[in-house]
Amino acid sequence: TSVGKLIDGKAFAAGLRVEVAQGVATFVASQGRKPGLAVVLVGEDAASAVYVRNKGKMTVAAGMESFEFRRPATISEDELLELIEELNGDDRVDGILVQLPLPKHIDEQAVIAKIDPAKDVDGFHVVNSGRLAVGLPALVPCTPLGCLMLLKDELGDLSGLEAVVVGRSNIVGKPMAALLLGESCTVTIAHSRTRDLASVVHRADIVVAAVGRPEMIKGDWIKPGATVIDVGINRVPGDEEGSTRIVGDVATAEAIPHVRAITPVPGGVGPMTIAVLLRNTLVAACARAGIAAPV
Ligand code: NDP
Repeated sequence: TSVGKLIDGKAFAAGLRVEVAQGVATFVASQGRKPGLAVVLVGEDAASAVYVRNKGKMTVAAGMESFEFRRPATISEDELLELIEELNGDDRVDGILVQLPLPKHIDEQAVIAKIDPAKDVDGFHVVNSGRLAVGLPALVPCTPLGCLMLLKDELGDLSGLEAVVVGRSNIVGKPMAALLLGESCTVTIAHSRTRDLASVVHRADIVVAAVGRPEMIKGDWIKPGATVIDVGINRVPGDEEGSTRIVGDVATAEAIPHVRAITPVPGGVGPMTIAVLLRNTLVAACARAGIAAPV
């Protein structure tokens, strides 16, 4: 019996950040300025504040300029749209990221639609999702693009493989399916209405789990030798009274004997997201400067 390998997303992400930093140095040498990423944070959500702080730190560590805009939860939609308009027109800003979720009185789709698609480093604008869907060059959502990088690193050519994506969000599931289709996988998208999810998952050479339900996908659902990418980040009660820990959407320990390879949680997909965000910012900066992107 074989035992599956754990995919080290943390190490892969660190390598990608080094590549991005090298690309940034080349960009600075030819353009005489740093690529810039603007992050907009609305409200006081603690988890979002931590994400934004990490993004800022890593942006600077990669040699880029970080601009942070904090606004109170009481900001009106119009005021937020005005801020984005300003950033669209600011030449120092190559990437704009609005940290989600936004307060309920603000229409997220309207905010995303306001971002210049050329600066949409989250890849959430319909112009970018449309370009991805028809196979044109696009800014692609960071988490699924990170998953694809890990899959190609592990498996090489993905063409002809059966891929099952569990989850159909605009942020993860749908763009993940589009990327896998672009790699010529046979793609199935499963969701909360899918019948007999276990047997659907059992067909897959590649399973991508993006559900948000702790350890929902069981080990014996996995076809022997499949590669599993676990996007889930779920906080559950820990062993000690009052403590918590993070688990994925896949029952990892159970799955390991079945898989060829699997991403752990934490340390798998999570670290890839920011690394790809930095990569997307460099790609956007190069496209705006009319030069080829090095990554
Ligand atoms: P959403 O809540 O937007 O989407 C979840 C999807 O899972 C939906 O399509 C839903 O189906 C489906 N689903 C829910 N219950 C079931 C079920 N019982 N069986 C099958 N499918 C089900 O989540 P996201 O896509 O935004 O995120 C998914 C997970 O990934 C979360 O844990 C999130 O924290 C994590 N995440 C991690 C990131 C990272 O690593 N950096 C980045 C983004 C997300 P339906 O559409 O029918 O409701």
